[in-house]
Amino acid sequence: MNHFDIIVIGGGPAGAATAIEAAKGGASVAIFEKASYGRDKVCGDGLTPRAMGALNDLGISATGIHKIFGLRMIAGKTRRELQWPTGSKFPSYGAVWVRKKLDAHLIEAASQAGAVMHFNSEAIPTFDGDRVRGVSVGGEYWTADLVVAASGAPGKVARMLGSERKTNEPYGIAIRTYVESPRHDENYLEASLAMRDSQGTPISGYGWMFPAGDGTVNLGVGALSTMRGFKSLNLNRLCDLYRDHVSEEWNVGPYLEKPRAWRLPMTSQKRCGPGWVAVGDAAGLINPMNGEGIDYSLESGMLIAQLFLENPVTAPEKYDQIIGERFDSFLRTGRRFSYLIGHPLVLRSGLRVAVGSQTMANLTLQVMGNLIDSDMPGGAGKVLRVADKLLAAADPILRSTQAKGKS
Ligand SMILES: Cc1cc2nc3c(=O)[nH]c(=O)nc-3n(C[C@H](O)[C@H](O)[C@H](O)COP(=O)(O)OP(=O)(O)OC[C@H]3O[C@@H](n4cnc5c(N)ncnc54)[C@H](O)[C@@H]3O)c2cc1C
Repeated sequence: MNHFDIIVIGGGPAGAATAIEAAKGGASVAIFEKASYGRDKVCGDGLTPRAMGALNDLGISATGIHKIFGLRMIAGKTRRELQWPTGSKFPSYGAVWVRKKLDAHLIEAASQAGAVMHFNSEAIPTFDGDRVRGVSVGGEYWTADLVVAASGAPGKVARMLGSERKTNEPYGIAIRTYVESPRHDENYLEASLAMRDSQGTPISGYGWMFPAGDGTVNLGVGALSTMRGFKSLNLNRLCDLYRDHVSEEWNVGPYLEKPRAWRLPMTSQKRCGPGWVAVGDAAGLINPMNGEGIDYSLESGMLIAQLFLENPVTAPEKYDQIIGERFDSFLRTGRRFSYLIGHPLVLRSGLRVAVGSQTMANLTLQVMGNLIDSDMPGGAGKVLRVADKLLAAADPILRSTQAKGKS
């Protein structure tokens, strides 16, 4: 039988979440993943409390994983260690769950829910007029009522669907590796916000040490495309600089693998069309404030599955509308903010404010930790609403004065 209710292209968190939720609800689902079972994904492996909430919603148990209870932010000589808040609608803990294991676990859950898995299977959308009808995989054809592009940072699938990132909007890149450290079992994420490149230019982004609890720490650095000198940024060099910076405090061993970099898409030209939707990175759902994408992948995957189960015909448009309501203004504010901190001076003084007092550090924590839900309650929500208005008014100036060139 070559027809499914839903065909998912890509077996990362977004694809697996779609499949788990849809298959549990009785839909027939197939996932095509071009890599083999147990593939790795270049990632910081950090899960915020919000991502843990999404995993709970999917029925994924957190038993035995390395829990994280807060974030240490470092800017120059200032360091603040803050616990994730208790009493919010999200769990009071996050986690570091290495992607090789997390993704395999999610794929197994999808399979147990009834989804049919195909590894080593690169899928290409097929069309009937402008409607996506299914996929072709190595010369074989499969049809579906809905094709879900969960194919990660845009490539061939996005080009065919017209869902590539908007070229005039910010995006990110990041690099990571693993190191051994006696501090591997700490329960705090660490983010160094005042990084500089080898020329001394401030990085709009951060370096991280995310302890995995298995003898290793995920060490990495990410940067936004709006920073000065972005095009000539040497990520490998930056990674080495950051390792040197943390080496003594963390007593790090040599790199356990060659540092690898990947893109962080933060927009997409469209996220649905006749017969298809895009979820997760394929839909450009990454938070510019912290580079987090796993939560959005899980949430968007679950959402399209629920909407499909309710009504397959209206699901794509409804999905686009709800994703827009839930995430668009927050992510847009983040992108505008990234123009602002692309200016070294603004970044320096901004950092001073962001971690300078306990109150501001708490707000920064809520933003960095993605603890603001769609209704944006609390102090951080209010600040963001005001920032959204101010940054919207300043948008043309921010774009036209974007930091460029070398430092
Ligand atoms: C260095 C770095 C650090 C990061 N750190 C964090 C972090 O700490 N926390 C966090 O939340 N987010 C982080 N992110 C972002 C996070 O990794 C992504 O948002 C997340 O992986 C998106 O999941 P996804 O399922 O959408 O895509 P992916 O995980 O990329 O999965 C897409 C899958 O689709 C498959 N595929 C692609 N094309 C096809 C095709 N044609 N046919 C079949 N299969 C196909 C790929 O092989 C892949 O397995 C980081 C990103 C980077 C680059």
